[in-house]
Amino acid sequence: MTAAVANPAPTTRPLPVAAVGLRDRHGRGKRKLRISLTDRCNFRCTYCMPEHPQWLPRSSLMTRDEVLRLARIAVLHGITHIRLTGGEPLLRPDLLDCVHDLQTLRPLGLQRLSMTTNAALLAPAAKALAEAGLDDLNISLDAVDPDAFRALTRREVAPVLAGINAAIDAGLPVKLNAVVLRGRNDEQILPLTAWALARGLPLRFIEYMPLDQPGRWQADDVVSEAEILARLRSVYRVEALPRGSDPATRYQLAGEATGVGIIATVSNPFCASCDRIRLTATGELFTCLFAASGTPLGARMRAGDDDATLSSLLRNAVWHKQAGYAAAPGPVERPILMHGIGG
Ligand code: SAM
Ligand code: SF4
Repeated sequence: MTAAVANPAPTTRPLPVAAVGLRDRHGRGKRKLRISLTDRCNFRCTYCMPEHPQWLPRSSLMTRDEVLRLARIAVLHGITHIRLTGGEPLLRPDLLDCVHDLQTLRPLGLQRLSMTTNAALLAPAAKALAEAGLDDLNISLDAVDPDAFRALTRREVAPVLAGINAAIDAGLPVKLNAVVLRGRNDEQILPLTAWALARGLPLRFIEYMPLDQPGRWQADDVVSEAEILARLRSVYRVEALPRGSDPATRYQLAGEATGVGIIATVSNPFCASCDRIRLTATGELFTCLFAASGTPLGARMRAGDDDATLSSLLRNAVWHKQAGYAAAPGPVERPILMHGIGG
């Protein structure tokens, strides 16, 4: 990445917006952008990062103004959904300001502003986030049993449950996400489902992806969509619902108001309909979760590139997006781990 120089004021002249928005050479349009606000995290989920991670220098993280500037360019290119992520976005001291800033993109086309969080720090922040205009939350909850939760995240579950309750009290729609690892929390599939159904919360199980520390992921550790379904079918009558652009296949559980989803990136990749792109906390653009390298929009912004140049870099990077995991399955060799790219 190039050295940072003084950040110029964003240009105010109108951007040339492509009539078709962002599209890649495989014919897939882009509507969703994930922005990582920090690589730092208060958890140490074993499937995401090492116990003693190397954090990025704080000075390399995008400032609030830089986040807004790249987000604005993306929205002007047809991005309608932005999800804030991390690391843990609640560790970012100016998170509320960022949420306020991004509201200014609504008249330009932003339809939904969401956040993915481990929720441990959510309880005191939920009301203010709702008032600032956040639309909804995805909350990671890999187990309801405290021991199983601790074994996976190296942290306690109680603050997470308090965060979920606070979000519900604040009127924020909540979806739960659970990564499933064989022998670690597969016994939690049914308890988690019962817990979510009792609260009317949509739950999505995620297959363990090879994006953590090099050498740790093993194919045998992945609990596949078929295995998750078999567990669910031991208790519920399960019916698949039509698949949309969401990465999860949704399943209705007979007699229940909410269903479950399964994100089967490993056993049944959804690459053919992928409509998302990602910015790391330094502003590096990854057009695929599994891309070996990114496009350094943040560094180019700090080096003085104007919005028209950044726009053209964005369009070019998206155009060259690879087919995805389905075309090249297995671990990716690259320095950035899951907590750096944002999930
Ligand atoms: N800290 C926040 C959280 O945990 O919700 C946001 C960042 S986290 C990287 C985003 C999502 O990625 C979480 O739902 C997490 O469970 C998921 N994730 C992390 N590592 C994963 C892996 N190796 N395979 C599948 N999902 C993973
Ligand atoms: Fe932190 Fe989220 Fe990674 Fe867990 S999954 S270590 S909470 S970034």
